[in-house]
Amino acid sequence: MTDTLEELTDFEQKLCEHHLHLERGAPRVLQINVGWLCNLSCIHCHVTAGPTRKEIMTRETVYRILDWYDDNPMEVVDLTGGAPEMNPSFRYMVTEFKKRHAHVMDRCNLTILLQAGYEGTAEFLAEHHVEIVASMPCYSAENVNAQRGNGVFDQSIEALQLLNRIGYGIRDDLKLDLVYNPNGAFLPPDQEALEADYKRELRAHFGIEFHRLYALTNLPVARFANYLRNRGKYEDYMALLIDNFNPGSVAGLMCRDTVSVDWQGAVYDCDFNQQMNMHLGPPAPVGCGYPPLEANPHPHGSPLLRLHRRSGLKLRRNSESPFHSTGKSSQFSPIPVMGYCFQSRQASVLPTCFKKSLALL
Ligand code: SF4
Repeated sequence: MTDTLEELTDFEQKLCEHHLHLERGAPRVLQINVGWLCNLSCIHCHVTAGPTRKEIMTRETVYRILDWYDDNPMEVVDLTGGAPEMNPSFRYMVTEFKKRHAHVMDRCNLTILLQAGYEGTAEFLAEHHVEIVASMPCYSAENVNAQRGNGVFDQSIEALQLLNRIGYGIRDDLKLDLVYNPNGAFLPPDQEALEADYKRELRAHFGIEFHRLYALTNLPVARFANYLRNRGKYEDYMALLIDNFNPGSVAGLMCRDTVSVDWQGAVYDCDFNQQMNMHLGPPAPVGCGYPPLEANPHPHGSPLLRLHRRSGLKLRRNSESPFHSTGKSSQFSPIPVMGYCFQSRQASVLPTCFKKSLALL
């Protein structure tokens, strides 16, 4: 076991040891965090979302993203939050991306489907064949309520039963996947075995069906990082992650094919870097044989330009866009409001800390 953070093996070193390279390919997924407003305040939340958050993507930013998407269509649009359904533009976004033939995913906390003011959301999602990826950290009430708040388990069960009634989790065209994450500073168990447990328990006790279970590792970010620090467990947890490095996960890292957009329209390698305010780094390869890029963070232009050169995404000059943001503008801006975000920041080269974490089970 590693004793201190200083002794933790660098992520790039780990890649070298396993003869791995981490390199961005063609973007396939556009993940949009539509804001931090949520009806829950879970202790593991890496967004620090909650009912009082005011950070919400505006309709103007939605227009800009759609405008950009028209030139750069992607296979999947992944809507996340907060509770994405609480954004007033949520239904508009779903409708517009479906018109553009995107496969749309909704990261749903389940309970929102039962909240006053959100009636009919489940039916709306079914009508548009939106894939639902739903948080369900356990099949027992005690664990779910401890992590997400009193009463959340019962509401989640009720919402899952509602989704089943309209075909989610049963029909192949209405995908319903659940997400498990540990209720503390430990790693998730084997995903396949856990999925079998979930299916057996939820079916036996509540008659619930679903397609797949994803077992996630909690990222030591935001609220969960505070949870760890308050209990003096942060360093031990980081060491646990490093000690359980899984080279098999590198091929599936989000940063290979995802463009992650925050509620203000800035872009990142992944949702976790987004929460750490680590804007999109240069999509240069990391691993054996590549020099560290921190020494010269912008050797070939801005990170954004390099992403576009490597990925084949189309650029527009700001002046061509009716939605061009004023302020510090970049020469090019694929999503106009995003451009300025890259000018004042040093590129973060596939930030080591989070690549470490993401490469774990
Ligand atoms: S984890 Fe999900 S449901 Fe819980 S507070 Fe965060 S965004 Fe809301």
